[in-house]
Amino acid sequence: MSTSSESTSTVAVRSLCEFTAKRGDLDLRFTPSPTAQEGMAGHALVAERRGADYQTEVSLSGCHGALQVRGRADGFDAKRQRLEEIKTFKGRLEAMPANHRALHWAQLKIYGALLCAKLGLDELELALIYFDVNKQTETALVETHSRADLQAFFSHHCDQFLAWAEQEAQHLRSRDAALTALTFPHAQFRSGQRELAAEVYRAAVAGRCLMAQAPTGLGKTLATLFPLLKAAPGQRLDKIFFLTAKTSGRALALDSLATVHKHAPELPLRSLELVAKEKACEHPDKACHGESCPLAEGFYERLPQARQAAIQHGTLDRDTLRRLGQQYSVCPYYLGQEMARWADVLVGDYNYYFDQSAMLHSMTEAYGWRVAVLVDEAHNLVSRARAMYSASARQDSLTALRHSAPAQLKKPLDRLKRCWTELGKSHDQPFELQTQLPDKLLQAMHQAVSALGEYFQDHPAQQDETLQRFYFEALQFTRMAEAFDANSLCDIEREDLTEGQGLPGGGAAASSFRMGGNSRAKPRLSLNLRNVVPAPFLRQRFLSAHTVTLFSATLQPAQFYTDLLGLPDGTPWVEVASPFQAEQLQVHIAGHISTRYQHRQTSLRALVDVMAQAYADKPGNYLAFFSSHSYLQEALQCLQTHYPDLPCWAQGRRMSEAEQQSFLARFTPESCGIAFAVLGGSFSEGIDLPGARLIGAFIATLGLPQVNPVNEQFKRRLDELLGQGYDYTYVYPGMQKVVQAAGRVIRTVHDQGVIHLLDDRYLRREVQALLPSWWQITPA
Ligand code: SF4
Repeated sequence: MSTSSESTSTVAVRSLCEFTAKRGDLDLRFTPSPTAQEGMAGHALVAERRGADYQTEVSLSGCHGALQVRGRADGFDAKRQRLEEIKTFKGRLEAMPANHRALHWAQLKIYGALLCAKLGLDELELALIYFDVNKQTETALVETHSRADLQAFFSHHCDQFLAWAEQEAQHLRSRDAALTALTFPHAQFRSGQRELAAEVYRAAVAGRCLMAQAPTGLGKTLATLFPLLKAAPGQRLDKIFFLTAKTSGRALALDSLATVHKHAPELPLRSLELVAKEKACEHPDKACHGESCPLAEGFYERLPQARQAAIQHGTLDRDTLRRLGQQYSVCPYYLGQEMARWADVLVGDYNYYFDQSAMLHSMTEAYGWRVAVLVDEAHNLVSRARAMYSASARQDSLTALRHSAPAQLKKPLDRLKRCWTELGKSHDQPFELQTQLPDKLLQAMHQAVSALGEYFQDHPAQQDETLQRFYFEALQFTRMAEAFDANSLCDIEREDLTEGQGLPGGGAAASSFRMGGNSRAKPRLSLNLRNVVPAPFLRQRFLSAHTVTLFSATLQPAQFYTDLLGLPDGTPWVEVASPFQAEQLQVHIAGHISTRYQHRQTSLRALVDVMAQAYADKPGNYLAFFSSHSYLQEALQCLQTHYPDLPCWAQGRRMSEAEQQSFLARFTPESCGIAFAVLGGSFSEGIDLPGARLIGAFIATLGLPQVNPVNEQFKRRLDELLGQGYDYTYVYPGMQKVVQAAGRVIRTVHDQGVIHLLDDRYLRREVQALLPSWWQITPA
């Protein structure tokens, strides 16, 4: 919905009906639906069958009081005086829930009312055309209605929406007036905070993207949110999306919003925390439909009251949504999804805007929102986006289906199995890069996906999780295969298991390099599509937003992020000066140590000597970072052997949340010791240990990713595409981890600390160029 003037609100027919015509249960039983392309092709085919006089995409609009309703009807046959609404589907039409059908009729009747008014018709034939994209057949449901009936229907629905629309228009007016008057919630900006805020504001006014490198301790969250709140009225922003890579970032954003609300208690700003379904679900043992979950049963009957109550809350965080869910007996997760339409600031994971079927991006396009996007800790977006646009198909995932797959799926699944076996015969290496996708296997996978889709349509009550998981993996793979181009790699990994050997958890990818080549062993293959450059997928996401700011303490070099993320040409990169003084931090380089793989054993003793000496000079809490768990263990053993009295503790593999908490709890202002952690792991980013809780860090290695066949292929491809293979694969991602880890030491302007960079390569000028400019380095 948009407010075009003081008195008129405009709503699309689709939005109006979604608001007023949804009734009954929430029913999200999985049913395969046509892709966007299949939908468009279906519409085009139906139109083609109608003949030359058939009008498509008929623009219609009409008013009801202060509400303007508009939209495009799918097709009008003037000769027959017949208006059509085309819906594409897959599977059995009878399986479509009645409330979906009711929604389709509501849309068509609203279009009918608008058309009758436009052409002065007394009566109109309405036809809902259901087009089966697999069979290419049509089923028409036809009704004839008088103009008076349709007008009454239109008025009834507009009346239901009008009160809400007026309330929303009033909300936007008072929100924007209050934002115009809003002042910064603290007495003054911190050093650098104003500069960052001004850059974000300028980008919003100019309607462009921005990359901002700003150090920790600056208050970046508020420095980015506040200017967008200020820019919202002038730039007519509908929404601000604050996107994070981790839950901790989400919490910081909600804290900043709480600070704004505390400062301006009357500010009518609605914030929403988007929480993953697994975390918000109240009945994880149930399915999302009325026959299974009590919070889905009658959901739409109670939604209006829950929605009305929800907008009274300034911040809809997870707990508030949960309470409202309990109070109104509605699912808190889907209440949150509904409230995304009515919130001003939305805080959630990157995937809500950047992944393939990102909800916030789809809504932005569908509702024509003008949005401002903030990408917190944006250095994470490269790896996260690569994961979003990659896919793996594993031979052993078929094994899990062997017992549960129904008989009617046997044929397509057996065909797929045979293709895997054939592929295994022609690929005997642990890792093989493919220049082309394996056609036969892909075709078998398409057939399996289609058979599974039909099966789910025919058996909506049977929601076998294993089968569904397999279906989604295969579907994701086939979709990524359709988009496959030079920006991704295709490879086959092979792991050979001897008889009786179990399959390792997590599939073949992780452990396959050390195995293979044994002709008597049983092969297990995985076929991988690995995205290398996500830019083509992300480009449209940046263009859809009015403004996007990517910010992080480590966002250099700019070209690396521009190239890989697909930011618009000319996106400025700014660096905000650190609020910290060089005197707060001593940076030493141990130029006599090489942590290159081949020198690690011989340099261990020198490395732990540096650590022990630093500790002896100034006892306190230190973090020591290593590039892998095994390197960490070797260094720990060496330190414990030669300095048995030095207190130390270490990060374990796959620590639970509680174990992570107890690791961090050992850093107290009074404690002393060295904690060993993995570079790039849970303790090298996003943790805050101010003052005496952490006084120093040791960083062994340059954090370069492991040299393995996959990374080597990434290097090659990045060389071909962007001419920067080695730096883009190894150096920049490695140094970004180093700077993030080092950033744990100085957290406030009162902190003092030391960083020891343990490798001679830190002496190189090009490496030092990637370190924060405020550091003053002292070679050891
Ligand atoms: S509570 Fe859980 S199972 Fe029920 S509708 Fe919500 S997400 Fe689905």
